[in-house]
Amino acid sequence: MKLFTDHLQQHFYTAFKTDDNHHCTAVVTQGLHEPTLVSSNKLLAEQLGIDPAQLTSPEMLQIMSGNQIPDASQPIALVYSGHQFGVWAGQLGDGRAITLGELPVKETLWDIQLKGAGTTPYSRFADGRAVLRSSIREYLCSEAMHGLGIATTRALCLINSQTPVYREEVEPGATVCRVAESHIRFGSFEHFHYRNQPESVKALADYVIERHFPDWMDRDDKYLLMLENCVLKTAKMIAQWQSVGFNHGVMNTDNMSILGDTIDYGPFGFLDNYNPDFICNHSDTNGRYSFKNQPSVGLWNLNALATSLTSLLESDHLIGALKQYEPEFLKQYRTIMASKIGLKEYQPEDEPLINQLLELMQTNNVDYTIFFRSLCAFSKHNQTVRDQFLDREGFDGWAEKYLQRLAQQSSTDAQRQEKMLATNPKYILRNYMAQAAIEQAYQGDYTEVQLLLEVLQSPFDEHPDAEKYAGLPPDWAEAISVSCSS
Ligand code: AMP
Ligand code: MG
Repeated sequence: MKLFTDHLQQHFYTAFKTDDNHHCTAVVTQGLHEPTLVSSNKLLAEQLGIDPAQLTSPEMLQIMSGNQIPDASQPIALVYSGHQFGVWAGQLGDGRAITLGELPVKETLWDIQLKGAGTTPYSRFADGRAVLRSSIREYLCSEAMHGLGIATTRALCLINSQTPVYREEVEPGATVCRVAESHIRFGSFEHFHYRNQPESVKALADYVIERHFPDWMDRDDKYLLMLENCVLKTAKMIAQWQSVGFNHGVMNTDNMSILGDTIDYGPFGFLDNYNPDFICNHSDTNGRYSFKNQPSVGLWNLNALATSLTSLLESDHLIGALKQYEPEFLKQYRTIMASKIGLKEYQPEDEPLINQLLELMQTNNVDYTIFFRSLCAFSKHNQTVRDQFLDREGFDGWAEKYLQRLAQQSSTDAQRQEKMLATNPKYILRNYMAQAAIEQAYQGDYTEVQLLLEVLQSPFDEHPDAEKYAGLPPDWAEAISVSCSS
């Protein structure tokens, strides 16, 4: 059988292999012992034109665990730098991610990358490995975000092994096959800018434009278009994060994609109760990356990206591009929030309606996802959602205004409800759900990983076999603590 990895191409490596500035380094993967397949992603395989049966083959297990390098592959690790928690951190790079090559699918090239397949020149003092626990979280969450319609890196398969990896305790080493149109980060540009290598900044920008925006290649304003695209895509991505209650947790500039995809799933978390001060990352003691700070951190990071493009663009162009962030974020956020409450169109008067609702939810500790899903069934005759609020009168006051607003629209309750059900997910990846799958996987049982994958890939649909995951989190969920250690 010809495997999809036999068709890998080497665009990034070829573009930069003769480059003295080392955009990437050729590496070899270091395999895991006694690998076993935890889960493979049929949906993504089909989107990439890969026969899903390949993913369960013994040859693929060897490749995806880093034990065998496909003939067509020249594995590489990319260099980048970044601002971590607001401080310049200098060189970072792919310390535990190795790109095997790019897979052509119609007009698009997809990076095929192994996370956890050993050390690279950028591993610093770390081991190049990823533990099963964090790999399950990345695998499930990237697919959950895709299911929610949010731009993200994807995950093709997940491998467990008998290789011991030392964290707070010994854990099994794992790999995730990450798939993305680009793994180039804001920090990739910062790296060359702060090393005073403008020609390398330009080479990287030209690469991004040639690969992702070939129509712009001959335009004088191509670098501005690339930056503007990143500003707009990042604004949209973060508006969507806010709308589903997603907290990334480590929005360092090395974890921000030049295409505006969600990337590098670490200590992320979804809101249970609506709480703007939520901090998913227990290492983030000051809450720099708290839920409510994400929109402004997005702009801070784009500022860092724009600064690293000063050799390519005049400052008034940089400022003009950055100025598009806030209006785009607000436009996207307001449109989504209006649709979450069943409004066909956002009007300026809707802002207090949405804000009052969020305030009520916060003071009444209302679950974010469950509330919006239950609101789909709200009508003049069915107001059961009010039971979620201790302050029933407060809710009634809001509901009265809400019903008046709904009455201004022409649609029927049934039409509105149908749209709302496609906007408000029934399932999100709460920490306790990932934890349940992790604990089972540590016993060698991967059925919950597979179940969650399938449920989260279509989070707006009903899944009778996963009804237990549609309710409030159990009490023990509060004790789960996630930090950067993975
Ligand atoms: P992260 O916080 O996961 O985005 O990682 C920040 C930097 O640390 C990146 O350069 C990673 O490649 C690197 N890194 C994280 N964990 C490891 C590891 N176990 N081995 C090598 N490098 C790592
Ligand atoms: Mg990272």
